[in-house]
Amino acid sequence: MYQDLENKVVVITGAAKGLGKAMAERFGREKAKVVINYHSDNSDYQEIIDNIKAAGGDAAAMQGDVSKEEDVKKLISFAVETFGRLDIMVNNAGIENEVPSERLTLEDWNKVIDVNLTGIFLGSREAIAYMLENNSKGSVINMSSVHDRIPWPHFAHYAASKGGVKMLTETLALEFAPKGIRVNNISPGAIDTPINAEKFADPIAKKEVEALIPMGYIGKPEEIAACAAWLASSESSYVTGLTLYADGGMTKYPGFQAGKG
Ligand code: NAD
Repeated sequence: MYQDLENKVVVITGAAKGLGKAMAERFGREKAKVVINYHSDNSDYQEIIDNIKAAGGDAAAMQGDVSKEEDVKKLISFAVETFGRLDIMVNNAGIENEVPSERLTLEDWNKVIDVNLTGIFLGSREAIAYMLENNSKGSVINMSSVHDRIPWPHFAHYAASKGGVKMLTETLALEFAPKGIRVNNISPGAIDTPINAEKFADPIAKKEVEALIPMGYIGKPEEIAACAAWLASSESSYVTGLTLYADGGMTKYPGFQAGKG
């Protein structure tokens, strides 16, 4: 637990399920004030709010599409109106869909880029503009993926969006370091969330993924939430522009294990 996160105001996009939900509940246990952004899913965010309050934090929820400029502006205003300020912005919302690249439509390409890359640009820009105006040394945490460095056939749009997120994060980190605003990136490997539910329900597909992970297991959402809590806390006060691979070793060329290669 990080004592300095108590009463901090955290906005998390796409927080009604998966990694966003795990992070919202982790920040709740840190006794932070959490704004849960949800999109179209009718997941029970009220349960997340209840869990956060029961843990000693506070929470409120707001619908919004991260790819829409007006929605992102409203989300930041909502956080400030509800809890008085903004300290930590977690740009987590993301989507993926499998399409062989020769059949990847412009519509599919644009949809993934709009949510995964433009959404993170808008969330980062609005949060940083607020922090600058209010002289706040806040923290921005973006959710990328191991596919910001591992190529992923059939997911070219996803990999391109995440590669973009990594460079966007590093650029913003450099630009706003003199103001004390830290911008970092988390790049998860394979984590057990609804985005992977169909794949991991198939035992063969699950085994194939596990074979790519030197630590031998699919990560838990709580293990990513722990990274976000650390990056948000003052325990990482000298860290900016980092891409934190939380992947059980997936990016470390598992094919070379045990002397192979
Ligand atoms: P998920 O599908 O469980 O959750 C994604 C959330 O984003 C959902 O709540 C969804 O409603 C929301 N969302 C989608 N489009 C949105 C929009 N336009 N505006 C606002 N919210 C929107 O997936 P997850 O596994 O929790 O993924 C969270 C993030 O982590 C994504 O950016 C994903 O790319 C990244 N990631 C996940 C994994 C993994 O293995 N689970 C690995 C690497 C990266």
